[in-house]
Amino acid sequence: MTLTYTPLADIPKIVQSLRGAFNAGITKSLEYRKQQLRGMYNMLAENDAAIRDAVFRDLHKPPAELMIGESGMVKQECIDAIKNLEKWAANRSVKTGLVNKFDNVHIRKDPLGMVLIIGAWNYPLNLLLAPAVGAIAAGNTVVLKPSEVAPNTAELLTKLLPAYLDQRAYRIVNGAADETTLLLEHKFDHIFYTGSGSVGRIIMGAAAKQLTPVTLELGGKSPAFVSRDVDVAITARRLAFGKFFNCGQTCIAPDYLIVERGIEDKLVEAFKASIQEFYGSSAQSSQSYGRIVNKNHFNRLKTLLDQTKGQVVVGGEHQEDDLYIAPTLVLNVTKEDKLMEGEIFGPILPIMVVDKLVEGVKYVNQNDQPLALYVFSKNKRAIDYILDHTRSGGVVVNDALIHFIVSNLPFGGTGPSGIGNYHGKRSFDVFSHERSTLIKSMGMEKMNYVRYPPYTEKKTRW
Ligand code: NAD
Repeated sequence: MTLTYTPLADIPKIVQSLRGAFNAGITKSLEYRKQQLRGMYNMLAENDAAIRDAVFRDLHKPPAELMIGESGMVKQECIDAIKNLEKWAANRSVKTGLVNKFDNVHIRKDPLGMVLIIGAWNYPLNLLLAPAVGAIAAGNTVVLKPSEVAPNTAELLTKLLPAYLDQRAYRIVNGAADETTLLLEHKFDHIFYTGSGSVGRIIMGAAAKQLTPVTLELGGKSPAFVSRDVDVAITARRLAFGKFFNCGQTCIAPDYLIVERGIEDKLVEAFKASIQEFYGSSAQSSQSYGRIVNKNHFNRLKTLLDQTKGQVVVGGEHQEDDLYIAPTLVLNVTKEDKLMEGEIFGPILPIMVVDKLVEGVKYVNQNDQPLALYVFSKNKRAIDYILDHTRSGGVVVNDALIHFIVSNLPFGGTGPSGIGNYHGKRSFDVFSHERSTLIKSMGMEKMNYVRYPPYTEKKTRW
């Protein structure tokens, strides 16, 4: 389907009207914000079938994956924000010294102003709306820019949003690079971007011109360490879940495995069993397996499969007109392999076999810090060693992906995998300004004499 892009001529008007709405203070009251968050919740709850259908058309996403990874999570974010808003938005007192003993000294949580949220296609609902929950809760007006690569979801949200949220304060702008470039010429008070690092650099460059702060939710190659002592069946099942969820198109999918020599064959067999358990004898005819988002990404992944020097030990089948790539494992991949160059972002899992996991630690540290890092082991010392000697946005021991849905864990990258983080209260904080506030009484003036001129010698003696 072709998404209707917002006419370029309309973009400055939309931005101007949202700036006006913020200045008019319509998003200020907590009651208003809660009402808008209830609107967002209701939009998701009342249009479940239409949302399922749109995301299915974009990504062939199974409804259970939509619920776990997108709509259920955003609804929960709405509930948490509504429930905790008074607490999150309350002034926070700070300790003071004697000089300010009689003053009211605290931190206010003020809205930033007008913010821009740019979403990515792989979780087209979540990555646009979850940050929006924080922005709305914090009292901002918001321009939402969905990914044009998931056009059905973008089109549906454009239709639904005005029926549930105040159009004076929250607007969707649709389009690709041209529309986003024009948006970026305007002054926002924060830009929240999810997507690739290359576009992230463009976003940050444009933001720098306006001195606009950014949150960048990027990607990278997230490794999973597997030590010799693991329960192979459980490990394979959890890794298969993490890798093949959304057909591998997840920013925190285990990108590749670092497996201690000796268990690789058993692990591959256990993967085969898990894939069979999840998708039956043909993932292509399973209702539980997604598809690659479009031909470009399909061809990118197919080329990787053609170029790898590793052994394809599971899967490898693909069909272009169905955008299908089977759950695939590639064994004995070396550091020089094409599969180890960039983020795979598809259902292909390379396995590097090492004599000792410490070799894997060295390898990970030679590369960019990943968005996530996984360790499967029963050995506390080995786990601690890996955690202490690596860097990553987040880390999970003995599972994959699930830190994303714990709203009290700030989610984000480090270094090339991102700047900043969000979810739960953190999202509220991202879109709030901590305004230092000191309210002095007009009394006790004598106490101030010490700092007023004339600066006599007595006043400067400590
Ligand atoms: P994408 O193609 O949907 O692009 C992201 C956004 O950038 C879109 O809204 C798009 O319109 C906009 N955009 C594209 N080109 C632009 C340009 N030249 N100027 C301005 N804006 C432009 O998504 P993608 O980049 O393919 O996303 C995949 C990447 O995102 C992967 O690296 C993945 O790991 C990462 N990702 C990160 C997270 C996270 O939460 N950290 C989540 C999902 C995806």
